[in-house]
Amino acid sequence: MNIGVIGTGYVGLVQGVIMAEFGMNVICMDVIEEKILQLQQGKVPIYEPGLQELMDKNVQAGRLHFSTSIKETTEKSDVLFIAVGTPPKEDGSADLQYVLQVAQDIARYMNGYKVVVDKSTVPVGTGKLVKETIQNILDERGVEYTFDVVSNPEFLREGKAVHDCLTPDRVVIGTESEKAKAIMKKVYDVLFINQTPFLFTNIETAEMIKYASNAFLAVKISYINELALVAEKVGADIQEIARGMGMDGRISPKFLHAGPGYGGSCFPKDTKAIADIARKHGEELKVVEAAIAANEKQKSKMVDKVVAKMSDDGFLQGKTIAVLGLSFKPDTDDMRDAPSINIISGLINKGATIKAYCPEGMKEAKWRLKACEKNISYMKNEYDAVADADAVIIMTEWHQFRGMDLQKVHINMRDNYLFDLRNIFKKKEDIKLFKYYGVGI
Ligand code: NAD
Repeated sequence: MNIGVIGTGYVGLVQGVIMAEFGMNVICMDVIEEKILQLQQGKVPIYEPGLQELMDKNVQAGRLHFSTSIKETTEKSDVLFIAVGTPPKEDGSADLQYVLQVAQDIARYMNGYKVVVDKSTVPVGTGKLVKETIQNILDERGVEYTFDVVSNPEFLREGKAVHDCLTPDRVVIGTESEKAKAIMKKVYDVLFINQTPFLFTNIETAEMIKYASNAFLAVKISYINELALVAEKVGADIQEIARGMGMDGRISPKFLHAGPGYGGSCFPKDTKAIADIARKHGEELKVVEAAIAANEKQKSKMVDKVVAKMSDDGFLQGKTIAVLGLSFKPDTDDMRDAPSINIISGLINKGATIKAYCPEGMKEAKWRLKACEKNISYMKNEYDAVADADAVIIMTEWHQFRGMDLQKVHINMRDNYLFDLRNIFKKKEDIKLFKYYGVGI
């Protein structure tokens, strides 16, 4: 089986490497020449644990190639995965320009039957649009190649993407074509044998499952975050509440960790996109809309809390705040919609100076936070960041922060505020050294 993966980002690259690991010949294609050059030189351009080793192995085995040529990728592949970005537009709807561009490109170079698989997260109806787009160009070309469109949404988590693609909870395949279904079964043969649950359905249902899943998880996070605000006021402990809730098999303890709000490249954009899809069809997703609003509120509540605890006049002039962790979650360099961006900007607006450190997110943070660069210093490690700071904020729970020597942190600080927005230190004795504030505890 020859596979082409178009778009070599967090999803496409991992997917391509895993397909090669499953024994297929794979070309990973991208329009960014620098990225492909780096990959051809054997370097993974993103931070994703375990990916480099698996990529090296499959390149050496001769199954994995990288290209900037859509012509070569299309011509040589039986199955073409579209894994390009679908960022949000101003109104919250998903921007489909990259997906449709790829559909046109594929159609231009199609040289026989192909299965075109949409792996990008796309609004319901996109499968049909991709089909029409390809057919129109084939008609213009005056050729009669046949093809099928499949929706195969991706559920990987950044930071655990390799694991998630090797052992997914489920594989969702939406298609009306028996031929495409049989080919997709062959593509995922390894997972089939390992008894991964498969769901075969129509394209629209598959497209909606992805949004429905992400929106549900976002709702769960916003729910526990709002309860955390109440827990703080009434003397309850949100971690214990979440534990007690999670013991109920119908609820599960996952995604019940109170924090500074969700971020990343999926939840913020996918919640807005499904709300937009609903509106366009005359419905209102009140629960999802509320989760979006609660998430925005949560981020500003974090700024309010720091200001309220550290200042009498509502300003942080002269205060230095160490922010540990910038990426939206641990084990990734992805800063898209990370809560750190809003919270750091909010603190700077109140007059604070920031000393930031993140194991992998700083490169991207530097341009995403360019507007306030004068007030941010990027430090070499967590201990440099806390030196002479008035407060420390744990923004993202990287493992190395969990193990920090809090006595050493305390000795080197100017004042002793510790805002633990991930509640990682709650059970540590040494938090007695600090004016300690978690979320919902
Ligand atoms: P990304 O921005 O990391 O990667 C997209 C890549 O596509 C980029 O490298 C870009 O250069 C390339 N590209 C754009 N136009 C192209 C074209 N015409 N031809 C070839 N390449 C092109 O995005 P991502 O995070 O990998 O997400 C891809 C899709 O998967 C999105 O729809 C996203 O919602 C979905 N998704 C993402 C995740 C995640 O955790 N990142 C998880 C599940 C689903």
